[in-house]
Amino acid sequence: MPSNNLELLDKFRKVNNLEVIESQSDIKRLSKDFYNYSPILTEKLNGCIADLVVRPGDHNAVKKVAEICWQFGIPLTLRGSGTGNYGQAVPLFKGVVMQMSRFNNLEDFDRDTGFVKVQSGCLMGDLNKKLEKYGRELRLLPSTWKTATIGGFIAGGSGGIGSVRWGFLRDPGNLLGLEAVTINKKPELLKFDAEESEPLNHAYGTNGIITSLLLATDIKRRWHSMVIDCIEFEKTIEILKTLTSSAIDLKLGAILEKEIVDQMPIWLKSKSGSHKILIQSTLGGIKTIELICKKFNVEFTLLGEEEKLVNGISEVVWNHTTLHMRSRDKNWTYLQMLLPLNNEFELINFLRKKWGKKVLWHLEAVSQQGSPRLAALPVLKWNGAEELNEIIEDCQKLGAFIFNPHVLTVEGGGLGVVDADQVKAKLKFDPKGLLNPGKLEGWLIKEQFNI
Ligand SMILES: Cc1cc2nc3c(=O)[nH]c(=O)nc-3n(C[C@H](O)[C@H](O)[C@H](O)COP(=O)(O)OP(=O)(O)OC[C@H]3O[C@@H](n4cnc5c(N)ncnc54)[C@H](O)[C@@H]3O)c2cc1C
Repeated sequence: MPSNNLELLDKFRKVNNLEVIESQSDIKRLSKDFYNYSPILTEKLNGCIADLVVRPGDHNAVKKVAEICWQFGIPLTLRGSGTGNYGQAVPLFKGVVMQMSRFNNLEDFDRDTGFVKVQSGCLMGDLNKKLEKYGRELRLLPSTWKTATIGGFIAGGSGGIGSVRWGFLRDPGNLLGLEAVTINKKPELLKFDAEESEPLNHAYGTNGIITSLLLATDIKRRWHSMVIDCIEFEKTIEILKTLTSSAIDLKLGAILEKEIVDQMPIWLKSKSGSHKILIQSTLGGIKTIELICKKFNVEFTLLGEEEKLVNGISEVVWNHTTLHMRSRDKNWTYLQMLLPLNNEFELINFLRKKWGKKVLWHLEAVSQQGSPRLAALPVLKWNGAEELNEIIEDCQKLGAFIFNPHVLTVEGGGLGVVDADQVKAKLKFDPKGLLNPGKLEGWLIKEQFNI
């Protein structure tokens, strides 16, 4: 959209219940996310800035924005809180960024099923507080849950705290339905059931403007945080696997290599050079965890109820581990992978021998198709794309499945293949290809955006 096109700007200004943000510094800020964790993406995305940012307050305003963008062929990129790591919310071809933060109501709660219907711009921290009065909580949370939106998590995230029990967002049973606005001549608000929602789940907002979501929730529990200190890294894996296959409730299970622990906030400092296992379980699980620690002859510390802790472990896990490493040294970046089943330590050992302390290990317990599995988010010292690719190849050769955080597309950061259903949904709900262009490999970008 040409910035001097006053006629167009005027059209947006005239939309009822639409905030139009025109300050250049705000537009710049709201065109960015946390892609700077990747030096590769930083180079590609630093110049990508929207022409305009808008914030709709109701469905009519959303439809009107979609209609104007359709009429003038302007790219439209959706934004929750902009905490994504792969430039998901960055407008590659300029145009309009639409921030959904004013869509923040809990619309319905079903006491029989525990399903919640919530607007897409609701912050997950706020949503959890609202759910508390029904005795429920979100099953899955990214470590950015305080500031990130539920719509951004579904459209751009994958899993996190809770994945040890509930797997990933795209696993059947987590998302039960959604409502989304199309972008065509006459934009419509459509309702999707669980099956119809699948192509919009984790599609980076390329095939529909999600206005609300129907999600399964869990019974609210008082999660207790604990730390296990262990000198041998291989043993940390054995202990975590024992815990994830025991009859206890877990919300979180992570391993941090001692060199990572040393860079974490002071309260988590390593006891005489030990690696740490971080666990969240219920009061009822503590005795069993203590017993398992006794059998492995390792030290166990109960920190207390997570919600009451000044320093909770929720903020040193998942990609918050990388955040803390980067706050010490911006040359740290990271990778994401599922480790090979039962060969986790072989892979880690090989990489340790070859790459030494250039690759430090951070593991997360997850459930994959119902079975316990270990994921890893190792932090890496940046030494160029060639070295990064060699590390990725080493991991792949040894059986890891990589979710590459240094690429821009849905497919590149996910399963690596085009999902025909996502493309079909785009054809139906965004036939001109205006939603977040450049992020879906299965959709060819025409010359329409002049790039
Ligand atoms: C320190 C750190 C830790 C993190 N930890 C995790 C983690 O544990 N797990 C995890 O999965 N992610 C994690 N992330 C990534 C990110 O924080 C989460 O995925 C978060 O849920 C994204 O929400 P958001 O509101 O910031 O979305 P945004 O970044 O604003 O958007 C994400 C994507 O969703 C699209 N989108 C947003 N709203 C809509 C809508 N209404 N309709 C359609 N599309 C929409 C955007 O276009 C974009 O493609 C982390 C990031 C950081 C920086």
